[in-house]
Amino acid sequence: MSAISAMKGAREDCYIGVGANLGSAQEQVEQAIARLAQLPDSALLARSSLFRTAPVDAGGDDYVNAVVKIETGLEAPSLLTQLQAIEQDFGRERPYPNAPRTLDLDLLLYGRETIAGDTLTVPHPRMTQRAFVLIPLLQIDPFIDIPGKGPAHAFVPGVSSQTIRKI
Ligand code: ADP
Ligand code: MG
Repeated sequence: MSAISAMKGAREDCYIGVGANLGSAQEQVEQAIARLAQLPDSALLARSSLFRTAPVDAGGDDYVNAVVKIETGLEAPSLLTQLQAIEQDFGRERPYPNAPRTLDLDLLLYGRETIAGDTLTVPHPRMTQRAFVLIPLLQIDPFIDIPGKGPAHAFVPGVSSQTIRKI
């Protein structure tokens, strides 16, 4: 490692779930991925296809979903703050839980870390129950392991009733 990268500290591979079901959902997801590629001290490593999915535990239109892999020197709380700032730029409102949204950015995995805080839980607690996370995630990294839970592919049979189609 060079002296400069040592000073910057460890960089982590992170996975971010992107979703939208209000407005021009597909365009918003594409634009959000472009914004994630520009996060400070970070680089985009991979992105999944776009998928169309039926809402889980909610009404409203179908979602457009994707998963993005970045490497970042940002600490997890700073990364969450950055994600929430991007959501705000896209006009995100939270009238009630699971309301339709112009943009949702969820921090799914932050390296191999497990975090249990008031405002941040990693791995994302519901990621193993959601086809719209698992399928795009496995498209990027078929052998990805979820810290504390096991290989992501093991959870696919449990979400097989959820409708998801590649766009
Ligand atoms: P959801 O995505 O669960 O429908 P929101 O996007 O409105 O709900 O997020 C609600 C809260 O979840 C946020 O204020 C944030 O502090 C918290 N949160 C906890 N862990 C995470 C995570 N891993 N990624 C994103 N938000 C998280
Ligand atoms: Mg969210």
